[in-house]
Amino acid sequence: MAKQNLLDLDREGLERFFADILGEKRFRAQQVMKWIHHRHITDFNEMTDLGKALRAKLEERAEVRVPQIQFEKPSTDGTHKWLLGMDGSNAIEAVFIPDKGRGTLCVSSQVGCALNCQFCSTATQGFNRNLSTAEIIGQVWVAAKHLGNVPHRQRKLTNVVMMGMGEPLMNFDNVVRAMSIMRDDLGYGLANKRVTLSTAGMVPMIDKLGEVSDVSLAVSLHAPNDELRSELVPLNKKYPIAELMAACERYARRKKGESITFEYTLMKGVNDQPAHARQLAKLMRQFDNAMQMKDAAKVNLIPFNPFPGTRFERSSETDIRAFQKSLLDAHVLTMVRRTRGDDIDAACGQLKGQVADKTRRQAEFRKRLEAQTGQGDEGAVDAAA
Ligand code: SF4
Repeated sequence: MAKQNLLDLDREGLERFFADILGEKRFRAQQVMKWIHHRHITDFNEMTDLGKALRAKLEERAEVRVPQIQFEKPSTDGTHKWLLGMDGSNAIEAVFIPDKGRGTLCVSSQVGCALNCQFCSTATQGFNRNLSTAEIIGQVWVAAKHLGNVPHRQRKLTNVVMMGMGEPLMNFDNVVRAMSIMRDDLGYGLANKRVTLSTAGMVPMIDKLGEVSDVSLAVSLHAPNDELRSELVPLNKKYPIAELMAACERYARRKKGESITFEYTLMKGVNDQPAHARQLAKLMRQFDNAMQMKDAAKVNLIPFNPFPGTRFERSSETDIRAFQKSLLDAHVLTMVRRTRGDDIDAACGQLKGQVADKTRRQAEFRKRLEAQTGQGDEGAVDAAA
């Protein structure tokens, strides 16, 4: 009989496993959860407050299988990246970014991504599969262990953003379960607002998320009108901006004072012109007005991080500043997210694991790159690793 990986279970699932499968009291599940997520113990024999008989039973029926670290790399600015093996042929990346008073882990939800945003490094690798709950929360486990994080006491990991490889809302159940462990006191004890899910705009799933979870929402907008957005984020053809903004309104309305962050990657000459800033400001003001709340919409400007083979360039510093000023002048709360970990390819949009691509995208990208440079993408993959 296959062993149950306990990392796949949130508190409710773990309690059910203990009661229904092991015939044990539910509180035993809580003890085990603490051993796994607070103390980073995976060997049942080291869980010393469990009786010998229970430990033997667990040994027989269960396991705590964490992702294998294939490679890890610290950056000079404190950023730390892991390449984690998910099975024989796939690996994903997770990145920890320390900042003043906070430590944010960027977590992946899929091996590659099925969407095909034109400016995204992950997209060039195609798509293989969804990550399991264990593989998602396993990224948090690996980082927390490395950091010596102790929830409620020595909290080094203070925020999680589901912004790594993949569209999290296309892997709904596993992502929601993993986020529940992140927020559970017996898990990583993070407040709802410290767990952020970033979506390219899966409108029906935003509504579904609103029914089951209270996490913060970020939306990868990247363009202020449908024509440009459909080109940059093809999902926009299915769920255009008006529908997306309406879904954001519904999500934010559930909780008083809720704001939504809109991510906007600035690309030279593509979406960084004064007219784009004016259109974006208008869209954001409309959102504030609809919510009857100042700063209901927040904008995160992300200077594009070029990667080998991309046709896009980073906006100039002058244009970035002018874009931000235009939004601030229109009373839109706007930050410029400074890229971190550039030296390890860990900056936003640069996450790139190893994807046994089931689409044709990786091959097509490699062909295009070969035509451009006379060499394939192997160098880029190696650099990411
Ligand atoms: S930007 Fe996000 S949703 Fe778009 S292709 Fe990249 S990983 Fe997928």
